[in-house]
Amino acid sequence: MIRKYGAQIGVGREVAIAYGLVEPTAEEAAEAEKRHEEFRARHVAYAAKIHTFRQAMAQLKDAPSRAVLSLHAETPDGECAHCYGDTEMGDREEWPCGTAIALATAHGIEVPTW
Ligand SMILES: [Zn+2]
Repeated sequence: MIRKYGAQIGVGREVAIAYGLVEPTAEEAAEAEKRHEEFRARHVAYAAKIHTFRQAMAQLKDAPSRAVLSLHAETPDGECAHCYGDTEMGDREEWPCGTAIALATAHGIEVPTW
């Protein structure tokens, strides 16, 4: 239980640590650093895979593929320019969207996974 600024909110220790409400133990800090390093390594690996994927998709030169990729282009935010994922929230689908994945799969291009 955290009491701060006259409010009382029940939060777990992990959340309390994340928001700086309590100090982590040395063991908790080491575990958090380990998780952070694992996340960073996965991010670096995914960045390399998505780069290769983008290059392979850019090599598709047939008109139907170019038309599909033009419509389902990756935005600067890493989303599909056409597809909506969560329609209730109005969020764009992450790229590659389902259509881009289907196109890649049809051409034998390996789709990166996180
Ligand atoms: Zn799309």
